[in-house]
Amino acid sequence: MPVLSYHHIKEYAAEAGFSLSGVARSRVLEEHGPRFAASLAASGEGALGYLVRDPARRLDPGRLVPGALTVVMCAMAYDPRPVETPDGLVSAHRRDGDYHPRIMAMLGAMLDRLRADVPGLVGRAFCDTSPILEKAWAVEAGLGWIGRNSLLVNLSLGSYLLLGGLVLAAPADRYDEPYSGSGCGACRRCVAACPAGALAVVTAPDTTESPSETPATVDTRRCISALTIESLRSGISPADPLHGWIYGCDVCQTVCPRQKKCDSPKKNGIFFENQ
Ligand code: SF4
Ligand code: SF4
Repeated sequence: MPVLSYHHIKEYAAEAGFSLSGVARSRVLEEHGPRFAASLAASGEGALGYLVRDPARRLDPGRLVPGALTVVMCAMAYDPRPVETPDGLVSAHRRDGDYHPRIMAMLGAMLDRLRADVPGLVGRAFCDTSPILEKAWAVEAGLGWIGRNSLLVNLSLGSYLLLGGLVLAAPADRYDEPYSGSGCGACRRCVAACPAGALAVVTAPDTTESPSETPATVDTRRCISALTIESLRSGISPADPLHGWIYGCDVCQTVCPRQKKCDSPKKNGIFFENQ
């Protein structure tokens, strides 16, 4: 069976414009089942109720690409400043409009180059477009941990990251180590700062997590980000107070001390050159 070059995967990701990339072995993420179920129970149908349907499907990349052996996760850092409009605040990730087509195009370019290396390679790109646990796979690929703000947090770049990836039906000649543990420790800043009280620490049943590693979950019935984005889709205005936001909400990212290294985008040199 042809083998994918780890070195080429990383090179193609960087050349496509991603700030980070990692390569994971595909497997069924069984241990995420209780955590995922606990999160769904906490958030109920909520604004993102579609997640409730067929949750087991989200644990297995083989359901997306038969014969899946490799999952590549990529992340692109972005300008963390929220956009101020006359009507209110718009989440920073929306500064240049919908990022999904851009990330999908970058992943498509990577896939084309990998297919030049491995003719006939079966694979699929995803960016919020497929039933796959993107943040869990980012942890598997060594990119960081899932913070109590429910987002992927990278030790150097924080959480202002747009994620996407590839599921590939071929092995790689090397894999990254999954990220181990949580970098949140005793911090609870995001939980305390959430203006909607939408973040709550939830312990999964039968978990072996230590209290310092217990993540939080988002109640999507209260989360301003979920409510505003869903209201745009449905045309129904949320009844809850939105605390000045009209699309998305960045509060649980803004307060995170892990953003400190990224609070000067120009100096950091990462945020604008990829966009
Ligand atoms: S996006 Fe805003 S409302 Fe939602 S969990 Fe984060 S701080 Fe709370
Ligand atoms: S604010 Fe603190 S608890 Fe929340 S994600 Fe950042 S480090 Fe973790």
